[in-house]
Amino acid sequence: MKIETQCLHEGYIPGNGGARVVPIYQSTTYKFDSTEHVKGLFDLTEEGHFYSRLSNPTVEAVEKKIAAMEGGVGALMTSSGQAASFIALLNILKCGDHFVSAASIYGGTLNLFSVTMKRMGIEVTYVDGDATEEEIQAAIKENTRALFGETLSNPTMSVFDIEKFARIAHKNQIPLIVDNTFATPVLCRPIEFGADIVTHSTTKYMDGHAVSVGGVIVDSGNFDWTNGKFPEFTQPDESYHGVVYTRDFGKSAYIVKARVQMMRDLGCTPSPQTAFYVNLGLETLPMRIKTHCENAKKAAEYLLAHDKVEWVNYPALEGDKYKTLAEKYLPQGCSGVIAFSVKGGREGGIKFIDSLKLISLQVHVADIRSCVLHPASSTHRQLSDEQLKNAGITPGLIRLSVGCENIEDIISDIEQALSKV
Ligand SMILES: *Cc1c(COP(=O)(O)O)cnc(C)c1O
Repeated sequence: MKIETQCLHEGYIPGNGGARVVPIYQSTTYKFDSTEHVKGLFDLTEEGHFYSRLSNPTVEAVEKKIAAMEGGVGALMTSSGQAASFIALLNILKCGDHFVSAASIYGGTLNLFSVTMKRMGIEVTYVDGDATEEEIQAAIKENTRALFGETLSNPTMSVFDIEKFARIAHKNQIPLIVDNTFATPVLCRPIEFGADIVTHSTTKYMDGHAVSVGGVIVDSGNFDWTNGKFPEFTQPDESYHGVVYTRDFGKSAYIVKARVQMMRDLGCTPSPQTAFYVNLGLETLPMRIKTHCENAKKAAEYLLAHDKVEWVNYPALEGDKYKTLAEKYLPQGCSGVIAFSVKGGREGGIKFIDSLKLISLQVHVADIRSCVLHPASSTHRQLSDEQLKNAGITPGLIRLSVGCENIEDIISDIEQALSKV
């Protein structure tokens, strides 16, 4: 199935007389006929739902759909994108381990890596995503266990060279994790370029309507966890009577472990209602993404030609620094997100944002309604000037998320707000 068809049909097949739309199983628990059966469920020798912190039929249907869209062997939905990033890494890393991340990433992820995970004894090194293979290799240590980056970085809109990072990761026998939130599998499927694990904040385009916070992790099934660097995958898990993830679950070892260990213990589960909303969003994702891309390209071109605009980052633009990488990884478009700066830096940016009428100021992005944000005073507010610079964020940077309104209305709002600058 092509992605438009997957978005409508994967994950749930109604039986004769069954509900056409995936039902919301608003149930925390499930009923069994025998203790024998429950015993098997707890030992993971029997498949099935037994408690909704671990799995739920509505959530499972959406997980299957997203796994199919990304070309993975399985997926795990989480209560937020933050939880997805955290679990994706914690499933591999423990106290004393190290990982390498591209520096241009979402502010919340930066905090998670630099503050909270650091406090847990997990160390991160940031590298410039555009650095050479040798430079990135130099950041890898004996205890490095993963590489991380965002397909399209939030908010600077740089394109992550997935194949380059996958080569480095695999040369070092460690997995590459790619946050594919802005691109969505409609525009880019990182697994096809060598990514081992893909994460998303479903809060953004997948939901797309600003109604639910959520995340998801997708496992490619391609990484070899038996290479000696990941004993948690190859040694018996005593909390499941000696289950060995690679032996017992083969290609799904990573995603099964993420669910039965990480989700069991951390409990950042999505509600069935949230999964239902995400599913509705997914049904129209390809159509919305097409409009987002077309509108954003036009808005970016308009901004670039405007004399009050200092610079524009939109990788599909002629002359953009990432145009070549975008043609390779995102040939159908670069989402609805644009980063730009008006002349007059921080003050100019604030004047522009406060003058907008249709496009609303929101702590949100990748939504059906156009919205705008000033990262330096909001999402990336906790970062030092040095960290801001490393993440590619200038004080005047504006993140414009172009929605699905008529492009003429969007541009006339931009036009009138720029006239106030
Ligand atoms: C928003 C976002 C996240 C965090 O997701 P939440 O759903 O807000 O927890 C992670 N990565 C990227 C790229 C994001 O845009």
